[in-house]
Amino acid sequence: MSTKIPVQQIDPANESSSKKGSESVDLYASRNKIYVKEIKGFFQRIRTFSLLALMGMYFLFAWLTLNGDPLIHFDLPAREFHLYGATFFPKDFFLLSGMLIISAFGLFFITTLLGRVWCGYTCPQTVWTFIFMWVEERIEGGRNKRMKLDKAPNSPSKVAKKTAKHVIWLLIALATGLTFVGYFYPIRELVVDLFTLQANGWAYFWVAFFTIATYLNAGWMREQVCLYMCPYARFQSVMFDPNTRIVSYDPSRGEPRGGRRKEVKPDEVGLGDCIDCGQCVEVCPTGIDIRDGLQYECIGCALCIDACDDIMDKMNYPRGLIRYTTENELEGKPSKLLRPRTFGYGFMLALMIFAVGYTVATRVPAQLDVLRDRGALFKFNGEGRIENSYTLKLANMSEATQIYTLSVSGMDDIQILTPTQFTVTSGEKYALPTVVDVPPESITQSNNDIVFKAVSDDKIALTLETESRFVGPTR
Ligand code: SF4
Ligand code: SF4
Repeated sequence: MSTKIPVQQIDPANESSSKKGSESVDLYASRNKIYVKEIKGFFQRIRTFSLLALMGMYFLFAWLTLNGDPLIHFDLPAREFHLYGATFFPKDFFLLSGMLIISAFGLFFITTLLGRVWCGYTCPQTVWTFIFMWVEERIEGGRNKRMKLDKAPNSPSKVAKKTAKHVIWLLIALATGLTFVGYFYPIRELVVDLFTLQANGWAYFWVAFFTIATYLNAGWMREQVCLYMCPYARFQSVMFDPNTRIVSYDPSRGEPRGGRRKEVKPDEVGLGDCIDCGQCVEVCPTGIDIRDGLQYECIGCALCIDACDDIMDKMNYPRGLIRYTTENELEGKPSKLLRPRTFGYGFMLALMIFAVGYTVATRVPAQLDVLRDRGALFKFNGEGRIENSYTLKLANMSEATQIYTLSVSGMDDIQILTPTQFTVTSGEKYALPTVVDVPPESITQSNNDIVFKAVSDDKIALTLETESRFVGPTR
């Protein structure tokens, strides 16, 4: 028997209509509800830890503050993004692009090494679906009880259970939606404003939108989001190669499959280790059979490993009939960790992390721009000196209020007539009308290069310089 991992398209919602090896998927097939059996085991414990850590961060970070300001705040009206004490403006958009490129290369790199671990352990769809399933199991009971309950006619007990489940789902969804909007609208104000009916209409709309989206995605659509809506499922196989470590069934050990009494040795009955118990299918959140080979529906959650290991323990067989392995290992060949594609993705990932890290570390948290007033090129003032007018714009991107002292240079006896000390609060874009004059004898040409300098040695030592022009009469 071949030990190659065959790639097949299988429609779990309509298995009877699927033909092995078929490339077509019926996108309009009605959904057969999947009753996932809860299983405990090593990989489920890892997911529980990652799930608690990620949910904890998501719900907590919206409430954390630094120096009185939110730790993470996307201030869309002001077009500012506050992150861990730094303020980013639209001109920093390239950093966001850099972060997205890092995420993409990170995903490619990890997929090449370990398949869909992102999907199985950290994807928000997986995290929220597992929480919703956990609630369902607590209220309606295990897989068989849930199937029985769904088939049973309506009764007070059934209605009470279903109502309790949907109310708790909706409360989790509401907390999720509220927290998400809380990253854009300071959450303490949001909660008060929402419940005192003081929030604007958009706040209500977005909280409702994300609440409904969470409720539908994690409560009702579940695996359908992964199967039909997630683009990653479609292109991940491009990143797999025979050295990618993925959840796989070992057919050379498991086949021929067949039932037997407990602790009967496989060779006594001429069978492989698979007792065909179907546990790996019952625990699968996408309803597939891992024994059919690698399928795009597999989200790499490893629940089937936990289920099968449990069966192997009961049968007194070695664990690992389903395990993280590579196609090469299943064929008895050695697996390589470092190979051209892991090296390429890893190199690009390291390069992008360095480039973005260096840019952030050397980023000056302020910007000075100078605009010449366009009304008059120049004018003579009462002292016979020549004046030019400007508007200076200083953006403070740090989390501290800064006091600046302004000076100008580039021409003999050039001076500033307007105030030269000004205070710019955190995140503020300060506009300062400024008038500069020089004696006529300093004018050597009509266009003269000058430099404005704003110095702050207050909270953060900064020196900002910007060039401009001083226009005088033609000589
Ligand atoms: S859980 Fe293991 S033994 Fe049971 S059907 Fe699946 S592969 Fe076979
Ligand atoms: S086949 Fe196994 S790893 Fe894949 S989704 Fe199902 S339970 Fe998870």
